[in-house]
Amino acid sequence: ALRKAFLTRQICAIESDIEMPRGNTRSLRITCVPLLDRDGEVREILSVTRDFTGRRQAERAIRASEQKFRRLIEQSAAGVVIGDADGKVELVNSRGCELLGLSEAELLGRRCDEVLAPAEGEPALDDPGSLQPGRDLRFERRLQRPDGSIFPAEISINVLDSGAQQLTFQDITARYRQEQKAERQRRIQAMTSSINAAIVRLRNRGELLEETCRTAVDEGKFCVAWVGLIDEDGELELAAQSGLGESGDELLGEPLELVAGGASENAIFLRQPMFDNDVTRAADTTPMRACATRSGAGSVISLPLVVEGETRGVIVLYAFELGFFEDEEVSLLGELAEDISFGLEFIAKEERVDYLAYYDTMTGLPNRSLFFNRLSRQLQDAQDKSRRTVLAVFDIDRFRMINDTYGRHEGDAVIAEVAQRLRDTVDEADTVARITSNTFAIALSDDWDAADIGHRLEELDEVLFAAAFRIGDEDVRVTATTGAAVFPDDARTPEELLGNAEAALRSAKSRSERCLLYSREMNERVAESLRFENRVRVAAENGELQMWYQPKVCSRSGRLRGLEALMRWKDPETGKILSPEKFIPVMEHTGCILEAGRWALRQVASDCLRWQERGVIPPRVAVNVSPIQLAQQNLVGSLVEAQIVANDAGTAIDLEITESVIMDDVDGIIPKLRTLASVGTRIHVDDFGTGYSSLAYIARLPIDALKIDRSFVSDLTPASEGLSIVRTIISLAKAMKLQVIAEGVETEEQVRLLRDLECDELQGFHIGRPLPPEETFAVIASLSGDLEKRA
Ligand code: C2E
Ligand code: CA
Ligand code: CA
Repeated sequence: ALRKAFLTRQICAIESDIEMPRGNTRSLRITCVPLLDRDGEVREILSVTRDFTGRRQAERAIRASEQKFRRLIEQSAAGVVIGDADGKVELVNSRGCELLGLSEAELLGRRCDEVLAPAEGEPALDDPGSLQPGRDLRFERRLQRPDGSIFPAEISINVLDSGAQQLTFQDITARYRQEQKAERQRRIQAMTSSINAAIVRLRNRGELLEETCRTAVDEGKFCVAWVGLIDEDGELELAAQSGLGESGDELLGEPLELVAGGASENAIFLRQPMFDNDVTRAADTTPMRACATRSGAGSVISLPLVVEGETRGVIVLYAFELGFFEDEEVSLLGELAEDISFGLEFIAKEERVDYLAYYDTMTGLPNRSLFFNRLSRQLQDAQDKSRRTVLAVFDIDRFRMINDTYGRHEGDAVIAEVAQRLRDTVDEADTVARITSNTFAIALSDDWDAADIGHRLEELDEVLFAAAFRIGDEDVRVTATTGAAVFPDDARTPEELLGNAEAALRSAKSRSERCLLYSREMNERVAESLRFENRVRVAAENGELQMWYQPKVCSRSGRLRGLEALMRWKDPETGKILSPEKFIPVMEHTGCILEAGRWALRQVASDCLRWQERGVIPPRVAVNVSPIQLAQQNLVGSLVEAQIVANDAGTAIDLEITESVIMDDVDGIIPKLRTLASVGTRIHVDDFGTGYSSLAYIARLPIDALKIDRSFVSDLTPASEGLSIVRTIISLAKAMKLQVIAEGVETEEQVRLLRDLECDELQGFHIGRPLPPEETFAVIASLSGDLEKRA
């Protein structure tokens, strides 16, 4: 420096690290200043030495740390940009350059906020807020490279006290994709669980599919969801949709166009989920797809709905995202489609069960339960409109005969034909049903005038039954009996209305009328008879029954030859003794005649025993049996038991069986009568003459006596026609060696006539009325004369 200053005559400085004797190095600056004389010659050189070891060291440290910092930044996996206090890029690492697609030179000096600006048209993923010193900002946004490609970035900005900023940013595409995928799956799962809840809750196919589509759009965040079901003609019909808007609703129930080889078609025929992860590129599209793409759809999946092994339809989901459907999504949605299929299967099964529960399978008409439901609604409606409803029920007459004559198959065909004619006749508003095997019901709502009802029913009968029915290869006339009741005149509830119409039907049948309208008295009678029925039912159990006895005497000697046991009921409500004519038919109807009949036999036996104990030998006692008892196997058993007791009392029990009953089932009854005869029972044919018995049969039966019916006896006078009938009966009986008993003898003249005709025994009020056991005892004693004999 000294030399240079001397030679150049200029100030020269030199900086140098000088090794000092004590071993440490010092940074010195020596400045040499030449001082010139007047001639310009160097006169003197002034040298100033300054020690700046400290500053040097500091500078070096800074440089080292700067390098270290650069190295660190360089090594960072993240892009780093350092901005100066003005927000201009001062430093950028190579990762930063790579991520941003710009060179270091291009970046330096640019504004930081411009470099990390959100991609055009892309929303910032997160609002960065405002920059403040000491605050670390962290946010995500999509960034765009000059080549147009976009990537999601996580950015953090750190503002230093100096005002410089450090921006760190990372490409989070992988994480972002991962998160998106998780989010997509979460959406699918949420939607699946809502749809599964709907499957459990909803019992209607339409509602379930609607709810499914709605949930797919609302919760699953799908762009469009629709379900198509395959109809009977094999066409796919839109069953539900969401996301297509109103124009989609207009398509409901319409056949859908399937593109050959398209996703839905393949899903249906291959029975596999089919997806297209970019619908925007598809060349030819269905109207549905066009509509979905307009709504922003990116990808689509079609999932087959397989019910009971058959593809019944397809559910189609459009996602906004491109490439939505990856393995996991497809398999989750596949499971969802299976769940929906299960729901559909369940509904189909339930519908079948409902069908069986509410429809008559033979005719397809509603059955009684469904009829009730509909009738209730119809009556409500009639009430609102102040209208009448006529409920008519009708039975095909002698339907059993049709079945028996032509076979069940033809019987069913008649029923089906009636159902068809009924369907052809009725208005939409009329409710029709088959309520029992042979009973149909029809409820007609109208502005009825009471007078019209009869006409309308006649018309209905005409329409349904005027034309002959083709049975086998015959044309057969079928008739029906109708009973009807009117709402609100006759009844206020469906049950009552149907009950009354049925009561009218029963009445019509018993009166052999073609059609009968219900009347109030009829109902009261029915109610009364039901009440009576119940009282009769418990009569035997309550010990309200008694056996009375009417004597039979020898026509010549007038001596007691037997008793007829006649049942009585002392009605506890009135205290009156009721005739069996009133209650026996009820007992037969309800079946409690069996119990009462067994009781009668026991009672007769025990009465005999008592009389015997009191010193008389009772005559034979004839007990009446009804046809139902005869049909029962255990009549024989009951009679044998009673017979043994009666034998102990020195007497026997006989049976009176009505002529018609014997003739109804000759073959069935013969063995029974034989058994009864074998234990000493005599069989009397009761009410003889009324049943047109074949005498050939009578001859074959083990019968002991004929009882001439009261009707012939009561008008027996010397001049009457009855006389010749009675004469014929008696002579026939004699020819067959049968005893003859005349019942209902009321006059002395009848006694005389019958005696002249050689009738063996007489019975009737003139001889003696039926009496309770106590008084019977006295009669036996006096008529048989046994007491006197013993005395
Ligand atoms: P049924 O066997 O013809 O009995 C004779 C009926 O004629 C009895 O009526 C009797 O009281 C009545 N009678 C007797 N003599 C005369 C007479 O001179 N003039 C008139 N007008 N009637 C006379 P009852 O006791 O009212 O019995 C009616 C029917 O009830 C009986 O007709 C019989 O078929 C049935 N019955 C009575 N008791 C029993 C029984 O224990 N079991 C069953 N299964 N049926 C019985
Ligand atoms: Ca009798
Ligand atoms: Ca009789």
